[in-house]
Amino acid sequence: MASHNRIPMIAGNWKMHLVSKEAADLAAAIKKGLDPALKHEVLLAPTFTNLHAVHAALAGSRVILSSQDVAWEEKGAFTGAVSPSQVKDAGCTHAIIGHSERRKIFLETDAVVNLKVKAAIKNGIVPVLCIGETLEERESGRTFKVLETQLNGAFAGITAAEASKAVIAYEPVWAIGTGKTATPAQAQEAHLFVRGQMEKIYGKAWAEAVRVLYGGSVKAENVDELMAQPDIDGALVGGESLKADKFLRVIHYQAAPVK
Ligand code: PEP
Repeated sequence: MASHNRIPMIAGNWKMHLVSKEAADLAAAIKKGLDPALKHEVLLAPTFTNLHAVHAALAGSRVILSSQDVAWEEKGAFTGAVSPSQVKDAGCTHAIIGHSERRKIFLETDAVVNLKVKAAIKNGIVPVLCIGETLEERESGRTFKVLETQLNGAFAGITAAEASKAVIAYEPVWAIGTGKTATPAQAQEAHLFVRGQMEKIYGKAWAEAVRVLYGGSVKAENVDELMAQPDIDGALVGGESLKADKFLRVIHYQAAPVK
């Protein structure tokens, strides 16, 4: 048995859904349904405009609040952007960075992702870095090359100590919002590769300690078999995190407690 002790994390990405009252109600329902004995981390990432309401709804709970993105500049003429200190002010301790929708729709490059990871770390915000290959990249045998490039790009110029709290989410783009989940074996293979690549960047101890979440159509029905994989340390959940009962089942997944 491995000797590491990675605390699992289950994260909900609410994307551009819900208005503030709906978001606060959903957060409150999730807070209420949490088993108090639960040891792992639960994270919610609402839209920027709903952060304050969700922060208030989560008061007194251990649920982590995250933004879905963050700007790399601190302040100034950056219309539409939200800075690290602004998301911190709204109650966030974490920020999702490099989600495939940001990369694809908003044309974020690895260089931009790197700036955002650096800005988050500089401001004491934990980056939840998303990486993953498209279907075309998988089918042409380039999955590992893509993951390697994304990881090297995201962590360029950042020391192991600076990146020590970072969380990585492996999200095959073809599995996001499509209902197609990677098989547990496919996900495990990619997670092992990610850990190996992080070992090359920051060394064995760092790579053994980092949480690598799986994302891509995680549901109440498939979370158990995914979480049973040795290198899957949690889940980043989109659609299923918008339904309190389903997301609570994902949070309270059944898997071997010690990995
Ligand atoms: C996501 O938003 O990162 C995601 C994985 O979405 P879904 O669970 O809906 O596929």
